[in-house]
Amino acid sequence: MSIRLTPDQIERYSRQIMVPDLGGKAQVRLRQAKVLVIGAGGLGSPAAFYLAAAGIGTLGIVDSDKVELSNLQRQILHSTAAIGQRKVDSAKAALTQLNPDVDVKTYPVRFEDNNADAIAAGYDFIVDGSDNFDTKFLVNDTAIKFGIAFSHAGIVRLQGQTMTVIPRKTACYRCLFQGPPPEEILNCQVSGILGAVAGTLGTIQATEAVKYLAGFDEGLITDRLLVYDAKTMKFRDVDVKRDPSCVSCGAGKTAAARETANA
Ligand SMILES: [Zn+2]
Repeated sequence: MSIRLTPDQIERYSRQIMVPDLGGKAQVRLRQAKVLVIGAGGLGSPAAFYLAAAGIGTLGIVDSDKVELSNLQRQILHSTAAIGQRKVDSAKAALTQLNPDVDVKTYPVRFEDNNADAIAAGYDFIVDGSDNFDTKFLVNDTAIKFGIAFSHAGIVRLQGQTMTVIPRKTACYRCLFQGPPPEEILNCQVSGILGAVAGTLGTIQATEAVKYLAGFDEGLITDRLLVYDAKTMKFRDVDVKRDPSCVSCGAGKTAAARETANA
């Protein structure tokens, strides 16, 4: 399918079309791309805003929550007037206002085992902006299953981490952490988060999505975890290797499959 940009679109996206690594060809690819954002919260808000502004053709937003007053310090898709509304509705209104070209699809549910496949199928990239380990591992396993590239990120207090995964080519989230920690460790709800730290990480996720969709072969945050410390204002890389026995992207078996084999 070949599509052409309208004069309005060329003007709207002119500053990124000017970028030699992007250009008109990348803009057409973004226009045809479908990106799924899991969570319209601290990470999903800046990611979805920048993806909509950049002209991604279809943005899916998954979130089962309603907007609360304590969200507004970091979840910039939502305004004071939106308190009490479903986050997906508030997100769609904000994104459509920014760029009516974007087709925003909403899923007012939790991303769970029983709906993950149906929601994720057909998307080209996933931005994981979820706030819990179960969802992060489910996003990983679903993305690996369908071969969808995705961006992982986690944030707490003044720190964040992010990694991009190209299924079966680069290390996945399970190659790094085999499974959720035994007990829930720090999360924003109990430990706090500076809004701008969420903004930095969500913006990096949007950048990775655009680069991947525009066809960048190198420079993605793959086979490494990028760790950001806002207190010292330093970024560092932690090397991550693919695990041949990974239960998600390698030859390893899941705990359930092992139990069946041992029975
Ligand atoms: Zn893996």
